[in-house]
Amino acid sequence: MSTTAENYHKVTARLRQACLDSGRAENSVRLLAVSKTKPASQVLECYAEGQRAFGENYLQDALDKITALDHLTDIEWHFIGPLQSNKTRPVAEHFHWLETLDREKIARRLNEQRPSDMAPLKVLIQVNISGEAQKSGVLPDDIPALAAVVDSLPGLTLKGLMCIPEASSDDDVLAERFNSMQQLWQTLRLSYPGSVDTLSMGMSADMALAIAHGSTEVRIGTDIFGARAVREPDTKETHS
Ligand SMILES: *Cc1c(COP(=O)(O)O)cnc(C)c1O
Repeated sequence: MSTTAENYHKVTARLRQACLDSGRAENSVRLLAVSKTKPASQVLECYAEGQRAFGENYLQDALDKITALDHLTDIEWHFIGPLQSNKTRPVAEHFHWLETLDREKIARRLNEQRPSDMAPLKVLIQVNISGEAQKSGVLPDDIPALAAVVDSLPGLTLKGLMCIPEASSDDDVLAERFNSMQQLWQTLRLSYPGSVDTLSMGMSADMALAIAHGSTEVRIGTDIFGARAVREPDTKETHS
C-alpha cells in the first residue's frame, strides 16, 4: 500500500499534466485535499509535503482535527459538506472557506457569527448544475440574487462557484455540466471582478475533464488519503 505522501505526489503530478494538456498554467488550479473521515496524522503527512488547503464535510470530525493541528498557522480549512442553518457557528468560527452556500439565511447567520478579528469567510455558492431534485445548491437563475446578498455582507467574501454534478460515467454529460458552470462563473466574474476567482469542480474521477473546462480548484479525497469507510460519520450529529 502506498503512503499518503506518495499518493499526494501522484495526484499533484496528474494535476500538472492535466494543466499542460489543457494549455493552462500549472499554478492556475488549486488542489483541495479532502481529508473528511481521515485522521489528523494523515493531514499532517500531507501538510509536510507542502499541501495547505484541506476540505472537510463533517463538523465534529473537522473540529477535532482543526484543534489538533492548531499550531499550523498557515493551514486552510474549507467546509464542503451540506450545512444546516443551526450549525453555522463552528463554520464561522473555525473555517477559512465555505464552499456549499445555498441560501440567504445561512449567509446572514455566518456573517453575524464571524468573529471580528478573523478575515471575512470566503464563500462559494453551490450550484445544482444537473437540476436534480434531491441535490443541494441553487439553480443557475438564482445565483445573482444570492451573490448580491453575500457581496453585501462584511463578514463574507464572494469567491465563486462550486458544483457536484450527477454521478455519470459519460464524459460528454460531465463536460456539458462543467462547460455550463464555466459560463455561469465567467458571468459572475464580470459582476464581481475584484473578488470572484474560484471555480471549484472536479473530484478524483473527473479531475482532468474539469480542468479542461476551466476549473480553478479540484477537490481530491480518495486518491490522496485512500478509500473511506462505507459508513461515514452521521451528518445529523448535534453541535451548536
Ligand atoms: C468527498 C468529497 C470530495 C472528494 O471525493 P473523492 O471521490 O474522494 O475524491 C469532493 N468534493 C466533495 C463535496 C466531497 O464531499
